[in-house]
Amino acid sequence: MAGAQPSISDADVRSLAAWLEARGEPAYRTAQILAGVHRPEVAGFADLTELPVALRRDLAEAWRFSSIADSHVIGADGGLTAKAVHELADGQRIESVLMEYQARGTMARRTTICISSQAGCAVNCPFCATGQAGFGRQLTPAEIVDQVLHWHRPPWRALGDASAGHYNIVFMGMGEPLNNADRVFEAVRLLNDPERLGIGARHITVSTSGVVPGMDRMVDELPQVNLAISLHAATDALRDELVPINRKWPVAEVVAAGRRFAARTRRRVSLEYVMIDGLNDTDEQADGLIEHARGWRSHVNLIPLNPTPGSRWSGTPAAGIERFVRRLRDGGISVTVRDTRGREIDAACGQLHAQLAGRSLRDARNEREASAAVGSEG
Ligand code: SAH
Ligand code: SF4
Repeated sequence: MAGAQPSISDADVRSLAAWLEARGEPAYRTAQILAGVHRPEVAGFADLTELPVALRRDLAEAWRFSSIADSHVIGADGGLTAKAVHELADGQRIESVLMEYQARGTMARRTTICISSQAGCAVNCPFCATGQAGFGRQLTPAEIVDQVLHWHRPPWRALGDASAGHYNIVFMGMGEPLNNADRVFEAVRLLNDPERLGIGARHITVSTSGVVPGMDRMVDELPQVNLAISLHAATDALRDELVPINRKWPVAEVVAAGRRFAARTRRRVSLEYVMIDGLNDTDEQADGLIEHARGWRSHVNLIPLNPTPGSRWSGTPAAGIERFVRRLRDGGISVTVRDTRGREIDAACGQLHAQLAGRSLRDARNEREASAAVGSEG
């Protein structure tokens, strides 16, 4: 991206201050600009009406308001889920998802934003659409932060109360975040920054396929951030196939790193487990999972497989999930079943992106508008 303007969302405060000083602007402008670009109603530098017109124009020339060039957004679940494919400056595409949950027994809504850490992924899990598409490139901190800002800005801020501080962020979109740890950690610090979105680290979750050195770095560098481990199998023989990075860091080492994180941070680690019919939902795997999860601050989260097109596998039926849950609970393990959101819009990791491959986002948007106009959508 030689020659591309830097994005304001990861503008280094000192270089922004120096840039302003060189223009003879007062020192308070730095904080004013950062606060301005993070206000949810602001859609471009032109909206910063507290600034002189000439400064707004200069800002727009020197900085990109967003590293996302274009987005294609579709909704599902009666408006509670929305999914975006974002096109970056060099044409790479990534995905993010906004999900709203009605909190049980209250009027309160919780919003979760699922974001990508890489364009594609090199880990190559065979059940994952992102893995099947291969690796594109690392995302910059700005490209990570701008996915969050996308949902924070017009028109999406209208989707419930997605203003800063009211949502959770999960690194469960495309990519393996701990294979891009430096930039992901920087993005987390930017999201935390009280001068920017000010999202508390406890509202952020990093999900990993088991990059052990990255997990250990999280203990020291991001101890307040939540850790989720994509386990998916209890034995090395099966996990080598389902999560191929297991050949580098076997399951016992991954679980040991999870235990170190939990012991040092006193925080609960979630063990993610995609349920695949007849493959990893057996009693043998359940018993292995009990051994891994027992005796430390862990929580098992079962996710019914959302099969990718042409997948040789299907998700475990409800009765099988129920049986698996009972076996884990009898083994003393804390377990929940996650609802797979946005199935109708292909929300699992990388699927919408795969469906749009080779088409322009503009065409996809026009087609969708045309089909909505003839009333073919619910
Ligand atoms: N690379 C990281 C984070 C992104 S994937 C990781 O693997 O943890 C986020 C989660 O979505 C992971 O738990 C992953 O296993 C799961 N996932 C991927 N494809 C899926 C599918 N087809 N159905 C259900 N879950 C899927
Ligand atoms: Fe990569 Fe995660 Fe998909 Fe595996 S599940 S291929 S680690 S994005």
